[in-house]
Amino acid sequence: MTGAEVTGLARRGGVWEVAVRRGAETWTHASRQVVNCAGLHADEVAAMAGLDVDGLGLRQRWVKGNYFAVDPRHAGRVSRLVYPVPPRDRDTLGVHVCLDLAGQLRLGPDFEAVPRREDYGVDPARAGAFFAGAARFLPWLAPQDLQPALSGLRPKLDTDAPFADFQVRRETGDLEGLIDLIGIDSPGLTSAPALAELVAALLDGREPWTAP
Ligand SMILES: Cc1cc2nc3c(=O)[nH]c(=O)nc-3n(C[C@H](O)[C@H](O)[C@H](O)COP(=O)(O)OP(=O)(O)OC[C@H]3O[C@@H](n4cnc5c(N)ncnc54)[C@H](O)[C@@H]3O)c2cc1C
Repeated sequence: MTGAEVTGLARRGGVWEVAVRRGAETWTHASRQVVNCAGLHADEVAAMAGLDVDGLGLRQRWVKGNYFAVDPRHAGRVSRLVYPVPPRDRDTLGVHVCLDLAGQLRLGPDFEAVPRREDYGVDPARAGAFFAGAARFLPWLAPQDLQPALSGLRPKLDTDAPFADFQVRRETGDLEGLIDLIGIDSPGLTSAPALAELVAALLDGREPWTAP
């Protein structure tokens, strides 16, 4: 159901009651099983259900990825994605080159920790870092070719560990029937089919990665 927000989750008599709001309308949906795949808000939804997200290290922080567009006169000069060797000591993959469906070149995304507030603005002052990163392999690029384009927010597990894997959990005890997907950061999109198979197995009570 699109455009509807889950505002509460409570388990009564073995059934999850999911409180939903759409505009001024509110209602409760009953379900034996619930899959929480709420992206940036997955930790909040899990906490709504009663999971101790802080105690379990499942709180998410938000990291913005900014993109700069390359002047359209350069369209067609690069025909595929370009990923430089990632910097050794940083969280990012380095400035890479993307192509949109119209062949427009874009640089990004970078890595900007932001407060948990949905602010998708792209700071033009970041252009210098993008230029420095991309000029190494796009020798024809000029600083004035770059314009702020768009950004996205990634949910990252708030941990000091150098790498935090996806958390896919079948909850037990009082939270039986709840499946949580938390910290589904990049490459969550590429991994979506595998994650879907895993969730399907958990819903069926099968061991993950076995055939249906
Ligand atoms: C800049 C950037 C670049 C990326 N690049 C790549 C890449 O190259 N390759 C790759 O594989 N991945 C990439 N990713 C990561 C990828 O986009 C995510 O991992 C993926 O979108 C996560 O999917 P999801 O379904 O878990 O969450 P989302 O796509 O965020 O979907 C969550 C949904 O839950 C809804 N929701 C949230 N709270 C509630 C609520 N309370 N009630 C009801 N609905 C709710 C949201 O509205 C949303 O529709 C990138 C992400 C960013 C930001």
